[in-house]
Amino acid sequence: MAQVSSKCFCSVPLCSNSKQKQPYLSFHSFPAEEELRKKWVIAIRRVRGRIFKILRNSTHVCSAHFEPQDIYVTPKGKTWLKKGAIPRRFSFSRCCLRQGDH
Ligand SMILES: [Zn+2]
Repeated sequence: MAQVSSKCFCSVPLCSNSKQKQPYLSFHSFPAEEELRKKWVIAIRRVRGRIFKILRNSTHVCSAHFEPQDIYVTPKGKTWLKKGAIPRRFSFSRCCLRQGDH
């Protein structure tokens, strides 16, 4: 079960970033703490249910949705989120979301 997550992709609506296409991005799995996790779900405007489930190691949010100051790189080159960081950069926060075409 120790497969490398090459199939990392972003679960944010309208975002199609994936590790394969955007290897320069980092992909962050949902936080373990329930409270913070809820904030993430609200932030990305998803509703947990039949369509959207948070699965450990396979539900990710890419680093494009985090403020640069919320991300830090360890001396070993790993990208981590600061404690309590919440995704807040979305294409849908800039325009009206109701029309799905553009
Ligand atoms: Zn994304």
